Amino acid sequence: MPAITAVRGRLVYNSRGSPTIEVDITTDGTHTGRAAAPSGASVGIHETASFPEGGVAASLQVLSDNAGRITGADPGDVGAMNKVIREIDPEPGYPKMGGSLAFALSIAAAESAAKSAGKPLYRFLGEQEPLASALPSAPPARRYRFPFPLGNILGGGAHAGPGTPDIQEILICATGSDTVQDAIRTNLEVHSELRRILQESDPGFSGGKGDEGGWAPRLDNEKALQAAARACENLGFTLGREVSLGVDFASSTQWDASRSRYVYDRAGFENDAGEQIEFASDLISRFKLIYAEDAVHEEAFEDMAQIRARFPDVLVTGDDLTVTNAAILERAARGGSCNAAILKVNQAGGLYDALEFAAAGARNGIGLVTSHRSGESTESHISHIGIATGSKMLKVGVVGGERVAKLNELLRIAESRDGGDGDGTEHDLIQGMAEL
Ligand code: PEP
Ligand code: MG
Repeated sequence: MPAITAVRGRLVYNSRGSPTIEVDITTDGTHTGRAAAPSGASVGIHETASFPEGGVAASLQVLSDNAGRITGADPGDVGAMNKVIREIDPEPGYPKMGGSLAFALSIAAAESAAKSAGKPLYRFLGEQEPLASALPSAPPARRYRFPFPLGNILGGGAHAGPGTPDIQEILICATGSDTVQDAIRTNLEVHSELRRILQESDPGFSGGKGDEGGWAPRLDNEKALQAAARACENLGFTLGREVSLGVDFASSTQWDASRSRYVYDRAGFENDAGEQIEFASDLISRFKLIYAEDAVHEEAFEDMAQIRARFPDVLVTGDDLTVTNAAILERAARGGSCNAAILKVNQAGGLYDALEFAAAGARNGIGLVTSHRSGESTESHISHIGIATGSKMLKVGVVGGERVAKLNELLRIAESRDGGDGDGTEHDLIQGMAEL
Protein backbone atom coordinates (compact mmCIF):
# COMPACT_ATOMS: atom_id res chain seq x y z
CA MET A 1 0.00 0.00 0.00
CA PRO A 2 1.39 3.42 -0.92
CA ALA A 3 1.65 5.80 2.06
CA ILE A 4 1.90 9.56 2.38
CA THR A 5 5.28 10.47 3.85
CA ALA A 6 5.13 14.28 3.71
CA VAL A 7 2.57 17.07 3.44
CA ARG A 8 3.18 20.77 3.12
CA GLY A 9 0.98 23.79 2.44
CA ARG A 10 1.61 27.39 1.43
CA LEU A 11 -0.14 30.55 0.33
CA VAL A 12 0.05 31.22 -3.43
CA TYR A 13 -1.97 33.44 -5.81
CA ASN A 14 -4.55 32.57 -8.45
CA SER A 15 -4.97 34.08 -11.93
CA ARG A 16 -6.94 37.02 -10.49
CA GLY A 17 -4.17 37.73 -8.00
CA SER A 18 -6.21 36.52 -5.02
CA PRO A 19 -4.50 34.47 -2.32
CA THR A 20 -5.24 30.76 -2.22
CA ILE A 21 -3.84 27.57 -0.72
CA GLU A 22 -1.44 25.14 -2.39
CA VAL A 23 -0.65 21.69 -0.99
CA ASP A 24 2.21 19.27 -1.75
CA ILE A 25 1.78 15.59 -0.88
CA THR A 26 4.66 13.14 -1.19
CA THR A 27 4.05 9.39 -1.39
CA ASP A 28 6.68 6.84 -0.36
CA GLY A 29 9.28 9.58 -0.08
CA THR A 30 9.40 9.98 -3.87
CA HIS A 31 6.21 10.92 -5.72
CA THR A 32 4.98 14.47 -5.13
CA GLY A 33 1.57 15.77 -6.17
CA ARG A 34 0.75 19.47 -5.98
CA ALA A 35 -2.56 21.31 -6.18
CA ALA A 36 -3.68 24.93 -5.68
CA ALA A 37 -7.38 25.71 -5.21
CA PRO A 38 -9.20 27.89 -7.78
CA SER A 39 -12.02 30.31 -6.92
CA GLY A 40 -15.15 31.72 -8.53
CA ALA A 41 -16.50 35.27 -8.99
CA SER A 42 -20.09 34.17 -9.64
CA VAL A 43 -20.50 31.82 -6.71
CA GLY A 44 -23.62 29.74 -6.03
CA ILE A 45 -25.25 30.23 -2.62
CA HIS A 46 -25.08 26.48 -1.98
CA GLU A 47 -21.38 26.19 -2.87
CA THR A 48 -18.86 25.15 -0.24
CA ALA A 49 -17.13 28.23 1.19
CA SER A 50 -13.48 28.41 0.13
CA PHE A 51 -11.97 29.34 3.49
CA PRO A 52 -12.97 29.45 7.14
CA GLU A 53 -12.86 32.73 9.02
CA GLY A 54 -9.20 33.73 9.02
CA GLY A 55 -8.73 32.86 5.32
CA VAL A 56 -5.75 31.00 3.91
CA ALA A 57 -3.79 31.32 7.18
CA ALA A 58 -6.57 29.53 9.11
CA SER A 59 -6.63 26.67 6.57
CA LEU A 60 -2.83 26.37 6.72
CA GLN A 61 -3.05 26.13 10.51
CA VAL A 62 -5.58 23.26 10.23
CA LEU A 63 -3.20 21.54 7.81
CA SER A 64 -0.18 21.81 10.07
CA ASP A 65 -2.19 20.77 13.17
CA ASN A 66 -3.29 17.62 11.34
CA ALA A 67 -0.14 16.71 9.39
CA GLY A 68 0.27 13.69 11.69
CA ARG A 69 -3.10 12.27 10.59
CA ILE A 70 -2.34 12.78 6.91
CA THR A 71 1.10 11.16 6.88
CA GLY A 72 0.73 7.39 6.78
CA ALA A 73 -2.64 7.59 4.93
CA ASP A 74 -3.20 5.70 1.66
CA PRO A 75 -3.49 8.23 -1.19
CA GLY A 76 -4.24 5.42 -3.68
CA ASP A 77 -7.88 5.26 -2.60
CA VAL A 78 -9.81 8.53 -2.95
CA GLY A 79 -12.47 7.18 -0.54
CA ALA A 80 -9.85 6.44 2.14
CA MET A 81 -8.37 9.93 1.71
CA ASN A 82 -11.87 11.34 2.09
CA LYS A 83 -12.21 9.52 5.43
CA VAL A 84 -8.97 11.15 6.64
CA ILE A 85 -10.23 14.58 5.55
CA ARG A 86 -13.58 13.92 7.22
CA GLU A 87 -11.86 12.94 10.49
CA ILE A 88 -10.29 16.41 10.48
CA ASP A 89 -13.51 18.23 9.48
CA PRO A 90 -16.66 16.06 9.80
CA GLU A 91 -19.27 18.81 9.33
CA PRO A 92 -20.90 19.27 5.90
CA GLY A 93 -19.33 22.15 3.95
CA TYR A 94 -15.88 21.88 5.56
CA PRO A 95 -16.42 24.78 7.99
CA LYS A 96 -13.15 24.12 9.82
CA MET A 97 -10.67 23.63 6.98
CA GLY A 98 -12.53 25.35 4.09
CA GLY A 99 -13.35 23.81 0.73
CA SER A 100 -10.08 25.03 -0.75
CA LEU A 101 -8.00 22.91 1.62
CA ALA A 102 -10.24 19.87 0.97
CA PHE A 103 -9.69 20.51 -2.77
CA ALA A 104 -5.91 20.96 -2.61
CA LEU A 105 -5.33 18.06 -0.22
CA SER A 106 -7.44 15.55 -2.13
CA ILE A 107 -6.14 16.48 -5.58
CA ALA A 108 -2.48 16.62 -4.51
CA ALA A 109 -2.93 13.17 -2.90
CA ALA A 110 -4.50 11.75 -6.09
CA GLU A 111 -1.70 13.16 -8.26
CA SER A 112 1.01 11.69 -6.03
CA ALA A 113 -0.79 8.31 -5.94
CA ALA A 114 -1.16 8.25 -9.73
CA LYS A 115 2.55 8.97 -10.09
CA SER A 116 3.44 6.24 -7.60
CA ALA A 117 1.22 3.77 -9.52
CA GLY A 118 2.81 4.86 -12.84
CA LYS A 119 -0.59 5.80 -14.31
CA PRO A 120 -1.87 8.95 -15.95
CA LEU A 121 -4.16 10.80 -13.55
CA TYR A 122 -7.26 10.29 -15.73
CA ARG A 123 -6.89 6.51 -15.52
CA PHE A 124 -6.19 6.56 -11.79
CA LEU A 125 -9.38 8.60 -11.29
CA GLY A 126 -11.42 6.53 -13.75
CA GLU A 127 -10.79 3.46 -11.58
CA GLN A 128 -11.96 5.10 -8.33
CA GLU A 129 -15.28 4.47 -6.62
CA PRO A 130 -18.02 5.58 -6.53
CA LEU A 131 -17.34 6.74 -10.09
CA ALA A 132 -16.01 3.58 -11.77
CA SER A 133 -19.02 1.33 -11.28
CA ALA A 134 -21.51 4.09 -12.18
CA LEU A 135 -20.03 4.68 -15.63
CA PRO A 136 -21.40 2.78 -18.62
CA SER A 137 -18.05 1.11 -19.33
CA ALA A 138 -16.51 0.01 -16.05
CA PRO A 139 -12.87 -1.12 -15.77
CA PRO A 140 -11.23 -3.10 -17.28
CA ALA A 141 -13.22 -2.44 -20.47
CA ARG A 142 -13.19 1.32 -19.94
CA ARG A 143 -12.88 3.54 -22.99
CA TYR A 144 -11.74 7.08 -22.41
CA ARG A 145 -12.77 9.80 -24.79
CA PHE A 146 -11.93 13.47 -25.07
CA PRO A 147 -14.46 16.00 -23.88
CA PHE A 148 -15.09 18.82 -26.37
CA PRO A 149 -13.21 21.94 -25.25
CA LEU A 150 -15.76 24.68 -24.52
CA GLY A 151 -14.14 28.10 -24.50
CA ASN A 152 -15.08 31.60 -23.43
CA ILE A 153 -14.72 33.98 -26.41
CA LEU A 154 -16.57 36.98 -24.97
CA GLY A 155 -17.01 37.85 -21.32
CA GLY A 156 -19.40 40.06 -19.37
CA GLY A 157 -21.34 39.92 -16.10
CA ALA A 158 -19.24 39.21 -13.01
CA HIS A 159 -16.17 38.48 -15.17
CA ALA A 160 -15.77 41.85 -16.92
CA GLY A 161 -16.23 45.56 -16.28
CA PRO A 162 -19.03 48.07 -16.92
CA GLY A 163 -20.23 48.40 -20.51
CA THR A 164 -19.79 44.71 -21.30
CA PRO A 165 -22.81 42.38 -21.72
CA ASP A 166 -24.88 41.39 -18.69
CA ILE A 167 -24.63 37.74 -19.65
CA GLN A 168 -21.42 36.29 -18.31
CA GLU A 169 -19.98 34.16 -21.10
CA ILE A 170 -20.35 33.53 -24.82
CA LEU A 171 -18.74 30.18 -25.51
CA ILE A 172 -17.43 28.38 -28.57
CA CYS A 173 -17.39 24.63 -29.14
CA ALA A 174 -16.00 22.96 -32.27
CA THR A 175 -18.85 20.46 -32.42
CA GLY A 176 -17.81 19.16 -35.86
CA SER A 177 -14.24 18.29 -34.88
CA ASP A 178 -13.14 14.65 -34.85
CA THR A 179 -9.98 15.26 -32.89
CA VAL A 180 -9.07 17.28 -29.85
CA GLN A 181 -6.26 18.96 -31.79
CA ASP A 182 -8.70 20.23 -34.39
CA ALA A 183 -11.21 21.29 -31.73
CA ILE A 184 -8.63 23.40 -29.88
CA ARG A 185 -7.32 24.99 -33.09
CA THR A 186 -10.84 25.84 -34.27
CA ASN A 187 -11.74 27.52 -30.96
CA LEU A 188 -8.55 29.61 -31.22
CA GLU A 189 -9.41 30.68 -34.77
CA VAL A 190 -12.87 31.86 -33.73
CA HIS A 191 -11.47 33.74 -30.72
CA SER A 192 -8.96 35.48 -32.97
CA GLU A 193 -11.50 36.34 -35.71
CA LEU A 194 -13.82 37.76 -33.08
CA ARG A 195 -11.13 40.22 -32.02
CA ARG A 196 -10.79 41.36 -35.63
CA ILE A 197 -14.55 41.94 -35.87
CA LEU A 198 -14.70 43.82 -32.57
CA GLN A 199 -11.81 46.04 -33.60
CA GLU A 200 -13.36 46.69 -36.99
CA SER A 201 -16.71 47.76 -35.53
CA ASP A 202 -15.11 49.81 -32.74
CA PRO A 203 -11.62 51.18 -33.46
CA GLY A 204 -11.53 52.20 -29.77
CA PHE A 205 -11.73 48.54 -28.66
CA SER A 206 -8.63 48.05 -26.51
CA GLY A 207 -8.42 44.27 -26.82
CA GLY A 208 -9.32 44.01 -23.14
CA LYS A 209 -10.37 40.61 -21.81
CA GLY A 210 -12.49 39.31 -18.95
CA ASP A 211 -11.26 37.00 -16.20
CA GLU A 212 -11.39 33.89 -18.39
CA GLY A 213 -9.69 35.30 -21.50
CA GLY A 214 -12.86 36.13 -23.48
CA TRP A 215 -12.92 39.57 -25.13
CA ALA A 216 -14.65 42.26 -23.04
CA PRO A 217 -16.11 44.80 -25.51
CA ARG A 218 -18.60 47.60 -24.81
CA LEU A 219 -21.56 45.76 -26.33
CA ASP A 220 -24.98 44.65 -25.16
CA ASN A 221 -25.99 40.98 -25.06
CA GLU A 222 -27.56 40.98 -28.50
CA LYS A 223 -24.69 42.71 -30.33
CA ALA A 224 -22.15 40.53 -28.55
CA LEU A 225 -23.90 37.37 -29.73
CA GLN A 226 -24.19 38.76 -33.26
CA ALA A 227 -20.44 39.46 -33.32
CA ALA A 228 -19.68 35.92 -32.08
CA ALA A 229 -21.94 34.41 -34.75
CA ARG A 230 -20.29 36.54 -37.44
CA ALA A 231 -16.82 35.39 -36.36
CA CYS A 232 -17.91 31.79 -36.94
CA GLU A 233 -19.54 32.57 -40.30
CA ASN A 234 -16.56 34.63 -41.56
CA LEU A 235 -14.41 31.55 -41.11
CA GLY A 236 -16.78 29.56 -43.32
CA PHE A 237 -18.44 27.68 -40.47
CA THR A 238 -22.16 27.01 -40.17
CA LEU A 239 -23.51 27.38 -36.65
CA GLY A 240 -24.64 24.00 -35.35
CA ARG A 241 -22.33 22.13 -37.72
CA GLU A 242 -18.57 22.71 -37.55
CA VAL A 243 -18.96 25.00 -34.56
CA SER A 244 -21.70 25.93 -32.12
CA LEU A 245 -22.18 28.74 -29.66
CA GLY A 246 -23.09 28.42 -26.01
CA VAL A 247 -24.00 30.91 -23.31
CA ASP A 248 -23.46 30.93 -19.57
CA PHE A 249 -26.25 33.29 -18.55
CA ALA A 250 -25.11 33.08 -14.90
CA SER A 251 -28.62 34.35 -14.16
CA SER A 252 -28.24 34.43 -10.41
CA THR A 253 -26.06 37.52 -10.96
CA GLN A 254 -29.10 39.35 -12.40
CA TRP A 255 -31.68 37.89 -10.00
CA ASP A 256 -33.06 40.31 -7.42
CA ALA A 257 -34.89 38.00 -5.00
CA SER A 258 -36.52 40.88 -3.10
CA ARG A 259 -38.33 42.00 -6.27
CA SER A 260 -38.53 38.61 -8.01
CA ARG A 261 -37.02 40.10 -11.15
CA TYR A 262 -33.92 39.67 -13.27
CA VAL A 263 -32.27 43.08 -13.59
CA TYR A 264 -30.24 43.60 -16.77
CA ASP A 265 -28.85 46.96 -15.75
CA ARG A 266 -26.23 47.21 -18.50
CA ALA A 267 -28.78 46.57 -21.27
CA GLY A 268 -31.47 48.48 -19.35
CA PHE A 269 -34.38 46.03 -18.96
CA GLU A 270 -35.89 43.72 -16.39
CA ASN A 271 -37.50 40.28 -16.72
CA ASP A 272 -39.98 38.53 -14.47
CA ALA A 273 -39.66 34.74 -14.26
CA GLY A 274 -41.78 34.11 -17.37
CA GLU A 275 -40.02 36.82 -19.40
CA GLN A 276 -36.65 35.32 -18.47
CA ILE A 277 -37.69 31.95 -19.89
CA GLU A 278 -38.74 33.68 -23.13
CA PHE A 279 -35.55 35.80 -23.21
CA ALA A 280 -33.30 32.74 -22.84
CA SER A 281 -35.40 30.65 -25.26
CA ASP A 282 -35.25 33.37 -27.90
CA LEU A 283 -31.43 33.53 -27.72
CA ILE A 284 -31.14 29.72 -27.77
CA SER A 285 -33.29 29.53 -30.92
CA ARG A 286 -31.91 32.49 -32.85
CA PHE A 287 -28.23 31.75 -32.22
CA LYS A 288 -28.70 27.95 -32.48
CA LEU A 289 -27.06 27.53 -29.08
CA ILE A 290 -25.96 24.01 -28.29
CA TYR A 291 -25.31 24.92 -24.68
CA ALA A 292 -27.26 27.06 -22.20
CA GLU A 293 -25.95 27.30 -18.63
CA ASP A 294 -27.89 28.74 -15.68
CA ALA A 295 -30.50 30.33 -17.96
CA VAL A 296 -32.53 31.04 -14.82
CA HIS A 297 -31.46 31.68 -11.23
CA GLU A 298 -30.03 29.08 -8.89
CA GLU A 299 -33.28 28.11 -7.17
CA ALA A 300 -35.59 28.15 -10.20
CA PHE A 301 -35.71 24.37 -10.74
CA GLU A 302 -39.17 24.43 -12.36
CA ASP A 303 -38.27 27.26 -14.75
CA MET A 304 -35.15 25.36 -15.81
CA ALA A 305 -37.39 22.32 -16.45
CA GLN A 306 -39.50 24.41 -18.85
CA ILE A 307 -36.42 25.40 -20.85
CA ARG A 308 -35.15 21.81 -20.76
CA ALA A 309 -38.49 20.58 -22.14
CA ARG A 310 -38.48 23.14 -24.97
CA PHE A 311 -34.95 22.29 -26.13
CA PRO A 312 -34.32 18.55 -25.89
CA ASP A 313 -31.22 18.77 -28.13
CA VAL A 314 -29.55 21.60 -26.24
CA LEU A 315 -27.30 20.97 -23.24
CA VAL A 316 -29.46 22.76 -20.68
CA THR A 317 -26.85 22.94 -17.96
CA GLY A 318 -26.88 23.60 -14.23
CA ASP A 319 -23.96 25.33 -12.55
CA ASP A 320 -25.09 27.53 -9.65
CA LEU A 321 -28.26 25.42 -9.83
CA THR A 322 -26.49 22.13 -9.06
CA VAL A 323 -23.18 23.29 -7.43
CA THR A 324 -21.45 19.90 -7.85
CA ASN A 325 -23.70 18.51 -5.11
CA ALA A 326 -24.93 14.95 -5.72
CA ALA A 327 -28.15 15.40 -3.69
CA ILE A 328 -29.06 18.62 -5.53
CA LEU A 329 -28.30 16.96 -8.86
CA GLU A 330 -30.65 14.09 -7.98
CA ARG A 331 -33.38 16.66 -7.28
CA ALA A 332 -32.70 18.46 -10.58
CA ALA A 333 -32.77 15.14 -12.45
CA ARG A 334 -36.06 14.07 -10.84
CA GLY A 335 -37.68 17.36 -11.85
CA GLY A 336 -36.23 17.32 -15.38
CA SER A 337 -34.47 20.65 -14.70
CA CYS A 338 -31.35 19.92 -16.73
CA ASN A 339 -29.78 17.35 -18.99
CA ALA A 340 -26.22 18.52 -18.23
CA ALA A 341 -24.37 19.81 -15.19
CA ILE A 342 -21.12 21.60 -14.46
CA LEU A 343 -18.57 19.73 -12.37
CA LYS A 344 -16.29 22.09 -10.42
CA VAL A 345 -14.50 20.17 -7.70
CA ASN A 346 -14.13 23.20 -5.43
CA GLN A 347 -17.88 23.88 -5.45
CA ALA A 348 -18.18 20.61 -3.54
CA GLY A 349 -14.86 20.75 -1.68
CA GLY A 350 -12.95 17.48 -2.06
CA LEU A 351 -12.37 15.11 -4.95
CA TYR A 352 -14.49 12.35 -3.40
CA ASP A 353 -17.51 14.69 -3.30
CA ALA A 354 -16.96 15.43 -6.99
CA LEU A 355 -16.74 11.72 -7.83
CA GLU A 356 -20.06 11.18 -6.01
CA PHE A 357 -21.53 13.95 -8.15
CA ALA A 358 -20.15 12.42 -11.35
CA ALA A 359 -21.59 9.04 -10.35
CA ALA A 360 -25.00 10.66 -9.71
CA GLY A 361 -24.77 12.26 -13.16
CA ALA A 362 -24.02 8.92 -14.81
CA ARG A 363 -26.86 7.15 -12.96
CA ASN A 364 -29.35 9.84 -14.01
CA GLY A 365 -28.24 10.29 -17.62
CA ILE A 366 -27.02 13.85 -16.95
CA GLY A 367 -24.12 14.93 -19.20
CA LEU A 368 -21.16 16.36 -17.31
CA VAL A 369 -19.22 19.48 -18.18
CA THR A 370 -16.02 19.63 -16.13
CA SER A 371 -15.14 23.28 -15.62
CA HIS A 372 -12.45 25.75 -14.60
CA ARG A 373 -13.16 28.72 -12.31
CA SER A 374 -12.67 32.35 -13.23
CA GLY A 375 -9.80 32.54 -10.69
CA GLU A 376 -7.57 29.63 -11.75
CA SER A 377 -4.22 28.01 -11.08
CA THR A 378 -1.83 27.07 -13.89
CA GLU A 379 -2.41 23.37 -13.17
CA SER A 380 -4.21 20.93 -15.43
CA HIS A 381 -5.83 18.34 -13.18
CA ILE A 382 -9.24 19.18 -14.61
CA SER A 383 -8.20 17.96 -18.05
CA HIS A 384 -7.76 14.52 -16.47
CA ILE A 385 -10.92 14.84 -14.38
CA GLY A 386 -12.91 15.67 -17.53
CA ILE A 387 -11.66 12.54 -19.29
CA ALA A 388 -12.01 10.28 -16.23
CA THR A 389 -15.60 11.31 -15.55
CA GLY A 390 -16.67 10.80 -19.18
CA SER A 391 -17.53 14.51 -19.45
CA LYS A 392 -19.08 15.68 -22.70
CA MET A 393 -17.30 19.01 -22.51
CA LEU A 394 -14.34 20.58 -20.74
CA LYS A 395 -15.00 24.25 -20.07
CA VAL A 396 -11.55 25.78 -19.76
CA GLY A 397 -11.38 28.95 -21.86
CA VAL A 398 -9.46 29.54 -25.09
CA VAL A 399 -6.50 31.80 -24.23
CA GLY A 400 -4.58 32.89 -21.14
CA GLY A 401 -1.73 30.89 -19.58
CA GLU A 402 -3.91 29.32 -16.88
CA ARG A 403 -6.51 28.29 -19.53
CA VAL A 404 -4.07 27.10 -22.21
CA ALA A 405 -2.35 24.93 -19.57
CA LYS A 406 -5.48 22.74 -19.53
CA LEU A 407 -5.71 22.58 -23.34
CA ASN A 408 -2.02 21.76 -23.71
CA GLU A 409 -2.45 18.89 -21.26
CA LEU A 410 -5.18 17.46 -23.53
CA LEU A 411 -2.66 17.59 -26.40
CA ARG A 412 -0.09 15.71 -24.32
CA ILE A 413 -2.65 13.09 -23.30
CA ALA A 414 -3.61 12.72 -26.98
CA GLU A 415 -0.12 11.43 -27.76
CA SER A 416 -1.12 8.17 -26.09
CA ARG A 417 -4.28 7.94 -28.20
CA ASP A 418 -3.51 4.85 -30.28
CA GLY A 419 -0.82 3.08 -28.34
CA GLY A 420 -2.37 3.49 -24.94
CA ASP A 421 0.01 4.70 -22.30
CA GLY A 422 2.41 1.90 -22.71
CA ASP A 423 1.29 -1.01 -20.59
CA GLY A 424 -0.50 -2.74 -23.46
CA THR A 425 -3.86 -3.08 -21.72
CA GLU A 426 -6.96 -2.44 -23.78
CA HIS A 427 -8.60 0.02 -21.42
CA ASP A 428 -5.77 2.50 -22.01
CA LEU A 429 -7.10 3.31 -25.43
CA ILE A 430 -8.50 6.75 -25.99
CA GLN A 431 -10.87 6.78 -28.92
CA GLY A 432 -12.19 10.01 -30.32
CA MET A 433 -14.36 12.74 -28.91
CA ALA A 434 -17.22 12.42 -26.44
CA GLU A 435 -20.78 12.05 -27.73
CA LEU A 436 -22.71 15.27 -27.47
C1 PEP B 1 -19.03 29.93 -14.24
O1 PEP B 1 -19.93 30.61 -13.74
O2 PEP B 1 -19.32 28.95 -14.91
C2 PEP B 1 -17.61 30.25 -13.98
C3 PEP B 1 -16.64 29.49 -14.46
O3 PEP B 1 -17.36 31.37 -13.28
P1 PEP B 1 -16.94 31.42 -11.74
O4 PEP B 1 -15.70 30.59 -11.58
O5 PEP B 1 -16.70 32.88 -11.52
O6 PEP B 1 -18.09 30.86 -10.96
MG1 MG C 1 -21.51 29.20 -14.73
